[in-house]
Amino acid sequence: MTEAKNVIRPEIQAMHAYPVSDATGLIKLDVMESPWPLPDWLAKEVGEVVSKVAINRYPVPSAERLRALIRGVMQVPAGCDVLLGNGSDECIQYITAAVAREGAVVMAPTPSFAMFQMHALFYRVRFAGVTLRNDFSLDAEAFLAAMDKEKPALVWIAFPNNPTGNAFPIADIERIIRAAPGLVVIDEAYQPFAGATFMPRLTEFENMVVMRTVSKISMAGLRLGYVCGRPEWIGAFNKTRSPFNINVLTEAVAIKLLENKAVLDQQAVRVLNERGRVQSELAELGGLTAYPSAANFVLGRVAGGKDAGTRVFERMKASGVLVKDFSGGHPLLENCLRLTIGTPAENRAMIDALRAALSA
Ligand code: PMP
Repeated sequence: MTEAKNVIRPEIQAMHAYPVSDATGLIKLDVMESPWPLPDWLAKEVGEVVSKVAINRYPVPSAERLRALIRGVMQVPAGCDVLLGNGSDECIQYITAAVAREGAVVMAPTPSFAMFQMHALFYRVRFAGVTLRNDFSLDAEAFLAAMDKEKPALVWIAFPNNPTGNAFPIADIERIIRAAPGLVVIDEAYQPFAGATFMPRLTEFENMVVMRTVSKISMAGLRLGYVCGRPEWIGAFNKTRSPFNINVLTEAVAIKLLENKAVLDQQAVRVLNERGRVQSELAELGGLTAYPSAANFVLGRVAGGKDAGTRVFERMKASGVLVKDFSGGHPLLENCLRLTIGTPAENRAMIDALRAALSA
């Protein structure tokens, strides 16, 4: 009899599927969604758009209307092209597939977004992580030295970084782009909260592309990410893309919402205001070090020995608040919890639950 364990690659057998917690009945502050629903008038317009979509038809493979809209709304420089993904997760897959020649190396600072490493595994390219300093700052010299040794085909820089929340210095990233022998992807998933972007510089750096997502600006459920860059890069990634990867409902709704981007921008500003408030409250809490954030979440380290962070996480969950526990993952993240910024009421509940859990 054929057994899966004799067929499935050993490294796939050894790994875990990407963990996503069940948030039923909990205040959900674990995966950096926007906490705000659409205003009623816009939700109604979305409903009208959806009712007219021809779901019996395949999508237009090029999704030209949506791509053109993104070019305009997101200020993609003239001469650059746009690739769409079913979430930027899928863009990571396409980019990795396109560079995964025999012996290729993929690099990124670590800890960073887990999918960079996962897709390297899927496509059989070696992942060489360069560990951040203990305060999560980027050791640019160490990164440059590692690049010199590894000659990576692909470098991922999440700007700002997840799960640490900080944005590495622009001057250090520029040095990395200039020294890289291959492609550098600037992953700007958290750009709406960062106040800085590499997008206008796409024409300056030939070996750089910029990846973004609409997930953090109220559209996580649509699953839409995009990569902007020179046609030489985008054309190559496009060959690794599933032909109909953006479904007709996503395309229609994203067009409607991006045409009303001012609403999404206002929601992002409300999150930013809340982040400031949450950060000052966290700074007052004993037993937790909160790290600076340029994103819509804050990483905090619980003081104490082994499992201190997980205990606080479990207590918070028992009192109805779900955050993300990073203990047991990267050693630098021991006892770290990632707190997504929610509505004022959710943040109040989160900080109350955290305070109670820390003093229990
Ligand atoms: N990049 C980074 C840095 C992220 O943190 C995330 C998700 N949290 C993604 C990419 C993927 O986002 P999505 O697939 O929702 O576009």
